[in-house]
Amino acid sequence: MISLRGVSKYFGHFRALDDVTLDVMAGETLVVIGPSGSGKSTLIRCINRLETHDAGDIVVDGFTVGDTRQLATIRAETGMVFQNFNLFPHMSVLRNVALGPVRVRGLSWVEAEARARKLLVRVGLEAHVAKYPTQLSGGQQQRVGIARALAMEPKVLLFDEPTSALDPEMVGEVLDVMQGLARTGVTMVVVTHEMGFARRVADRILFMCEGRIVEQGPPTTLFDTPQDPRLRGFLQAVL
Ligand code: ATP
Ligand code: MG
Repeated sequence: MISLRGVSKYFGHFRALDDVTLDVMAGETLVVIGPSGSGKSTLIRCINRLETHDAGDIVVDGFTVGDTRQLATIRAETGMVFQNFNLFPHMSVLRNVALGPVRVRGLSWVEAEARARKLLVRVGLEAHVAKYPTQLSGGQQQRVGIARALAMEPKVLLFDEPTSALDPEMVGEVLDVMQGLARTGVTMVVVTHEMGFARRVADRILFMCEGRIVEQGPPTTLFDTPQDPRLRGFLQAVL
């Protein structure tokens, strides 16, 4: 579903991604972990072209990322959920979720709002469709963010620390929604520091350090028998 071949990304002279090769299978839940500055956000932002990579090839569902004719397609195929929700403050919850399908997929407002309502039920927000983002808790806002990403019917969902901005008591409700999505076979790449979630939900975990994939494997292997000393140090610090 996602394929990276020898991908590098520079910010000036600084190499944020260093020759990354990776395949994500359809239906897979890949969790990306690693220290701050290791390139986790850069990796997923290159997948949906929020950042441009400097070397190598990225292909999402057969579409080449970087071919400008396909930018709109790549954006539509890769739903993104951000740390800070990025909802439109002047629009109701329902409109926030319906807007993308109207603008990008060409649905009518009636069709798009019907789709949005179903998704808002799915994330447990049916009682809040008419509210504005500021009237919701952080956890509720992030569930709107997830519904909004799903409304585009993307091939892939990318999450960049979706629970990092939340008060601790709201983290669980968002992770539960994400776990539900993973079970239904959505292809997901999740950057997170939630190691419990990673262990429970990931099909595979990727450990990044200094722009490289240092180690990867199923959660039990990675957590219980880490090989690289940098991964051991990281796990000691976070677990
Ligand atoms: P964190 O866990 O703190 O979110 P991360 O693993 O997501 O870290 P990235 O945001 O991918 O790290 O950043 C990787 C490196 O690239 C960092 O050293 C960062 O300072 C640098 N970097 C990221 N974005 C930019 C930018 N727009 N301009 C310059 N340097 C950047
Ligand atoms: Mg980051």
